[in-house]
Amino acid sequence: MNASSAEGPASQQSMRRANLALVLGAVSRLNATSRAQVAEATGLTRAAAGSLVNELLEAGLLRERGAALEGRVGRPSTVVSLNDRGPAGLGLDVGVEHAGACVVDLSGAVRIHIRRPAGHRGQPPEKVAGNLAEVAEAALVRADELGLRIVGGGVAVPGLIGTSDTVVHAPNLGWHDVDLIGQLRALLPDRLRALPLAVENEANLGALAELWRGSGSRDFVHVSAEAGIGAAVVVDGQLLRGKRGFAGELGHMPVYPDGRPCACGSHGCLEQYAGEEAVLRECGLTGEAMEADRVALLAGSARAGREAVLGALDQAGRALGIALAGAVNLVDPETVVLAGAYAELADWLLPGMQTELGARVRIRPWQPEGLVVSELRREGPMIGAATAVVQRVIADPSVLRG
Ligand SMILES: [Zn+2]
Repeated sequence: MNASSAEGPASQQSMRRANLALVLGAVSRLNATSRAQVAEATGLTRAAAGSLVNELLEAGLLRERGAALEGRVGRPSTVVSLNDRGPAGLGLDVGVEHAGACVVDLSGAVRIHIRRPAGHRGQPPEKVAGNLAEVAEAALVRADELGLRIVGGGVAVPGLIGTSDTVVHAPNLGWHDVDLIGQLRALLPDRLRALPLAVENEANLGALAELWRGSGSRDFVHVSAEAGIGAAVVVDGQLLRGKRGFAGELGHMPVYPDGRPCACGSHGCLEQYAGEEAVLRECGLTGEAMEADRVALLAGSARAGREAVLGALDQAGRALGIALAGAVNLVDPETVVLAGAYAELADWLLPGMQTELGARVRIRPWQPEGLVVSELRREGPMIGAATAVVQRVIADPSVLRG
């Protein structure tokens, strides 16, 4: 048997698979488009493009809409677009104060959004998995009503995630080496239990959401906060993960080497000035903040002009600027993205950040417009988790064939 006869069918199959992805990617970019435009955009023949479009229609990834005139007068053609009643991604969010779920369709639109208050701080994984299963089930019911088919899910966790999908350490939850996906899977409705599920660090997912849905920059440093400080570096459209996947621990970058002692054993870490606990402690809001939405409380107090809060947020902004100036000098990003809870406090953080970045970025003159505020705010990680599922389908539609 010669090599070509052994490889023939396999390479034809992989070619078809690649072409399906090429066509789906073209429809995704062009949005509503004709078969002829797909052929033009992909370099495929009209016959090949038409056949691949039909295959994607049959698989429920595309839908076809009414007739449209195409170029030559009197020659109607139908328009295809990504199916908004087709496959969709489920995103789940383990907040320290809430459980969240969202569903994103193939076009990237957030179709379902659920957020339920839940005190997760220091709670055991089985309790948190139970809350996640509840919001996931609610999302599944809504997805059925909308005709969306959930084909995979992702969970955003405020912690370090190991290479084998284990939550290695989540300080605000008090977890070490937790198989959250295993615990969650056992509690999910049957239809979700069988699907591919992934767990990922919330800061990484927030950065990916920004990459896929944000300003279009492919080189940025993304810094976010909920309970802890998370950072992620995206270089040429790729997330910098580091050897063990733990890159981005900006919270323990020293900003004042002789400063406040940190739980990590060091002194003057960023977290001791810009972490949520540190800011609340600094402005004396700890008592009021035990049960409340702490970020909303801070923003409300700042808006009301409460001096102690304004001072604490200014200090946090300066500490963030010092730490981020180091990151900017190191990786020369196009932008620095302020995200998560920080985005909701941007009005009071930005002045101090701009001052320190301006004084300390030395590789080039610092441009204030290089510091941008994410529009996804605290929803970024969950939307990133759901969008990751959809991105995988667009990149290789054959994954849905199982
Ligand atoms: Zn530290």
